[in-house]
This record gives sequence, structure tokens and C-alpha cells, in this order.
Amino acid sequence: MPAPSPRTCVARLQLRLSALTLVQKFPSRSMALECFTSTLWQPTCGCGRKRVAHTFTSPSVAIGIGLAFGHAHATALEELTRAAADVGATGLRTAPGRALLVVGVTEDSAERLADIAQRLGFIVRADDPRRQIVACAGAPICAAAEISTRAIAPSLAANAAIAGADAPMVHLSGCAKGCACPRSTPLTVVGIEGRCGVVVNGSARDEPLVMLMPEALPGALSRCADGVRRLRAADESAAEVLSRLDRAQITRLLLGEATRA
Ligand code: SF4
Repeated sequence: MPAPSPRTCVARLQLRLSALTLVQKFPSRSMALECFTSTLWQPTCGCGRKRVAHTFTSPSVAIGIGLAFGHAHATALEELTRAAADVGATGLRTAPGRALLVVGVTEDSAERLADIAQRLGFIVRADDPRRQIVACAGAPICAAAEISTRAIAPSLAANAAIAGADAPMVHLSGCAKGCACPRSTPLTVVGIEGRCGVVVNGSARDEPLVMLMPEALPGALSRCADGVRRLRAADESAAEVLSRLDRAQITRLLLGEATRA
């Protein structure tokens, strides 16, 4: 069977979304705000799994579901909305942190829905390392892009993210415009003529410290993250560790040479 066109996917998704009534039943405005601003940060169950559900109008809860690197395929979104409807969700909202809030489900249903969402590739845990990687649309989606940011991003999440450090740790930008994250991040990767410029503690507009081919990037950022973990004092952020190293020391970390830092 031929794959559906993007236009068909969007149309089917819109139908799915409209099938869920977009009604909110938060007991108060402040609770609604709290839900939306802490979508993925609020652990609910006492089992330590850091699943994401918020107290709602008893006995229902709202569950936060993140989009890895800020995007999802239409078919995955369609399956998610179908699953949400199947477990009795009453609505679905966009939320800060590139997340969706599924509202009006029971706690048991929230667990089931989180399992389905995880299988579909969505983020359902606050400690998911993909949350530390921000990526713009990149090539081939954006005509200005000089690297395929979202193709590179998954290969960085496993090793370049530093749990408990700054979020985000890495910003992948297809070009110097830096659409996905205009502010400074510990490591910004900017596409320049098919190569990856690595900026330390800066934005996509700043001058890169080193230039790498895309295939060399996962190893370089992984070594840099390892170095940061090794050199970091308790409670020190990755940005702080990097700010007390000089350019030569960081270059050695990125390129895999021994450092005396
Ligand atoms: S930063 Fe550049 S490549 Fe990325 S979405 Fe913006 S214009 Fe496109």
C-alpha cells in the first residue's frame, strides 16, 4: 500500500484531533497554569518512575507527552490521538516544552497511554536524555539548512546529554539563525556548508571553536560530555565547567586528545 501523502496525513490528524473535544476542566486557573508550565516535570506516582500526570478533576488526571526534538511524524500523532480517545481522554492541548497535555484520563489509563506513547517514540519521562537536545527543522525540511539536524539529534542523545545539568545541553541548528533556541547553550552545533561548527557556551550566531563532519559529531560531543562529568564539582552546571576551561582544553576534549584540565 503506498504511503499517504503529507496532505492526507495532516487531514487525517485534524480529523482525529477534532474527534477529541478540546474542553478543559481544571478546577482553577492556577492549577491549569501549573499543569501547562510543568508538563514533564511533575512526578506523580510514588514508584519513582517519574511518569507524568497531573491531578485534574477527580478522578481524572492530565498526562504530559513530549515530542522528541520538537517534532513527530503525522502517523505517530494520529496513533497517539486514537489511543487517547480509546482510553477516554476528553481533550488534548499543546503545552510548553514542546509537549502535549492529554486531559481527562484516569490514573490507570494514563499509565497505559504513557506506555503506548513511549512505544510510538514520544517522551514520557522527565529524565529522558532527548529533552536535553534542542533541534530546529534542519535539512531537508528548511531550505536554509546546511545540515540534517533531526537526523543527527538521536545519535547525540545517548551520550551528549548530562543528567542533572543544564537543559538543554545541546542545540542543533541548521544555520546561524538559531530558530530553535536563540539563547546560549553549553554546546551549540551550527550547520556551515555541510559541516558542523561547535560553539561552546554561545548561540548559533557565535564563532565555532571547531568544525567537524556530521559523522564525527557524536563522538566529539560524547567525549566533551564525559570530560564535563569528570571535571564537574557537585551542583556545578555544564556551562560553568566549560566556562572555566580555556579554548585549547575544550578543543582537546572535542577532538579526543588527553587534557590536563
Ligand atoms: S535555524 Fe536555519 S535551518 Fe534551522 S529552521 Fe531556522 S532557518 Fe531553518
